[in-house]
Amino acid sequence: MLNTLRRIVQEVNSARDLPTALSIIVQRVREAMGTEVCSVYLLDPGSTRYVLMATEGLNKDAVGVVSLATNEGLIGYVGAREEPLNLEDAAAHPRFRYFVETGEERYASFLGVPIIHHRRVMGVLVVQQKERRQFDESEESFLVTMSAQLAGVIAHAEATGSIRGLGWGGEVVQDTRFDAVPGAPGVAIGQAVVVLPPADLGAVPDKIVTDIGAELQLFGKALESVRRDMQALSSKLSAQLRPEELALFDVYQMMLDDAALGNEVTDIIKRGQWAQGALREVVNAHIGRFEMMDDPYLRERASDVKDLGRRILAYLQEAGKRELVFPDNTILVSEELSPVMLGEVPKEKLVGLVSVLGSGSSHVAILARAMGIPTVMGAVDLPYTRMDGLELIVDGNHGEVYSNPSQELRRHYLELVREERELVQGLETLRSVPCVTLDGYRMPLWVNTGLLADVARSLDRGAEGVGLYRTEVPFMIQDRFPSEKEQQAIYREQLEAFHPLPVTMRTLDIGGDKALTYFPIREDNPFLGWRGIRVTLDHPEIFLVQTRAMLKASQGLDNLRIMLPMISSVYEVEEALHLLHRAHSEVCDEGFDVHMPPVGVMIEVPAAVYQARELVQMVDFLSVGTNDLTQYLLAVDRNNPRVADLYHSLHPAVLQALIKIATACRAAGKPMSVCGEMAGDPAAAVLLMAMGCDVLSMNATNLPKVKWLLRQIRLSDARALLDEVIELDNPYLVQSTLHLALRNLGLGKVLSQGR
Ligand code: PEP
Ligand code: MG
Repeated sequence: MLNTLRRIVQEVNSARDLPTALSIIVQRVREAMGTEVCSVYLLDPGSTRYVLMATEGLNKDAVGVVSLATNEGLIGYVGAREEPLNLEDAAAHPRFRYFVETGEERYASFLGVPIIHHRRVMGVLVVQQKERRQFDESEESFLVTMSAQLAGVIAHAEATGSIRGLGWGGEVVQDTRFDAVPGAPGVAIGQAVVVLPPADLGAVPDKIVTDIGAELQLFGKALESVRRDMQALSSKLSAQLRPEELALFDVYQMMLDDAALGNEVTDIIKRGQWAQGALREVVNAHIGRFEMMDDPYLRERASDVKDLGRRILAYLQEAGKRELVFPDNTILVSEELSPVMLGEVPKEKLVGLVSVLGSGSSHVAILARAMGIPTVMGAVDLPYTRMDGLELIVDGNHGEVYSNPSQELRRHYLELVREERELVQGLETLRSVPCVTLDGYRMPLWVNTGLLADVARSLDRGAEGVGLYRTEVPFMIQDRFPSEKEQQAIYREQLEAFHPLPVTMRTLDIGGDKALTYFPIREDNPFLGWRGIRVTLDHPEIFLVQTRAMLKASQGLDNLRIMLPMISSVYEVEEALHLLHRAHSEVCDEGFDVHMPPVGVMIEVPAAVYQARELVQMVDFLSVGTNDLTQYLLAVDRNNPRVADLYHSLHPAVLQALIKIATACRAAGKPMSVCGEMAGDPAAAVLLMAMGCDVLSMNATNLPKVKWLLRQIRLSDARALLDEVIELDNPYLVQSTLHLALRNLGLGKVLSQGR
């Protein structure tokens, strides 16, 4: 059964559009189950009716014609109950409705299962038979499994179709939203420019061309080049390979032959598709066919076709390289954006970034934050290959992308862009005023940095210190571990730039989603694995080199603070402190005149919350990493857009944890800071201040907004608000209560709807 399922899903996956996908489904499911009828009904979001979209066994003329309201017939019943319905005699069911167009009365038994994607009922998959019988358990579970697997494929096909503004029923579709994760704050409206990774067939977009002759010529040349390469390779290897192995090259040559692959591609180009898109279509179809074959030898041929396809594509892309044109308001879209791609767009034209892969910790997101470009990462459902030239809205605050925006949505976002610009300009005057509440409470606002580019922006916005310098950033942009001297120079620049303001340097926090190409860590559960302090305690040479470099860099400046990430036990702090003292004495032995800096522990793991009292005794300060703390407390991957709705830093459990940490710090008379994104959310910052947080450290973009809000409020009001929301048991309620209260105080303009 698994094999059949796998094969059907694979075939459906390679379908070029929704109607083809659905017709494959009904054919294959009918065959696999040996029934007389298989049909798919999809719920049309416009008319909210179930429309018969594909059938094998019923009258095909009924496709697209027959439809049922959501409370009508057995189909509506299955959809409403969101459960399978297995009937021996469908006509006897009170909800049965007869459609003359389908010729349905001949079928007695009925098995219908809902197609559900992310809680949304998308349609119903049905099999029917003349014979009166109940479908057995294994048939029912087959159909349920099939439907669960197909839901995602159908959703993807639907989204792919709708991005150009038309739904599957031909209706106008607007504001198609794709959920992702925030990469860099801000919103942007612009035109998508899809950048392809080199020679990745799967990433080639559709493109309609008018100069068909030129495309044919390009393709002809690419084909010829690959032929030549193959011949050259074959003769080069003839001394090392046996003749039967060399025969592979003959197979390649045959595939390239005009009558085979070449011809099929040419046909598609003649219909107006560009050469790269035509090649993708043909190669994918061949791969799909080979992969479905039972013979392992033939299945293996799929990889040959893939390889050939890539080689031809590489030549096509080489020829097409100079074609990329960047409009004003370019939104760069790619499967995996790289800093290099970003550098290729003229700075004044780049307004937003969208990456299908990657997270808020990816290089490009770090760079985007430093440059202030609204960015969305991990847009895994985005059919990006089909999006070139489309108008998009990038919401970097919430991690959302909209295609085909309606007038209203465009107006709403234009307004946000304008407000944001005005706000930033208006807030410039705040730069040199302190963050003091109306009742005189002074709240220090610091920044998080990583690149040197962050420094100017931070100082520009009136940062009073660095609460988190992510030292892994300079490590990530190299191709080897930086030496002690190199690190010393990098750290010195940070320390000097902010001097005399304090700079909190975090020891290397790699693992999780932060990878070094030259130190790969492969794990099933990287966020629960070898991460942060766990790596550096296992590699004291890395830890010692890094901390020595920090200490040396601080000579004569004395504004260094050191902070330890991912602490989950007191003995990790003991070991780290031991190494730190050793580094300090080594540095002093070398003749440097440096003091031992203040040392802090990051509270990012629930275990550390419950041991905050013990931990704070061991060090000079605690700093809460709410990004990870939220992730680990709520068991929600911070980079997984599928569970992004569950990731909520205002969750009552997170608030309770923060209060517990604040209480421990207060009792020990030591400062507590917060350096996760939460500190940069103006509304959340009000609560953090009320809890007694001593420092808020955030991205430079949000600092003026937080300052503006805190300067308009009284600490006593903030405390009353905290008392009110801490009684609530639901994160959404916490957020709406908080926002409403702040709006009522006339402070709504800096509030985002963030999670
Ligand atoms: C955090 O986890 O909140 C934090 C500040 O660290 P990072 O985002 O770098 O994991
Ligand atoms: Mg963290």
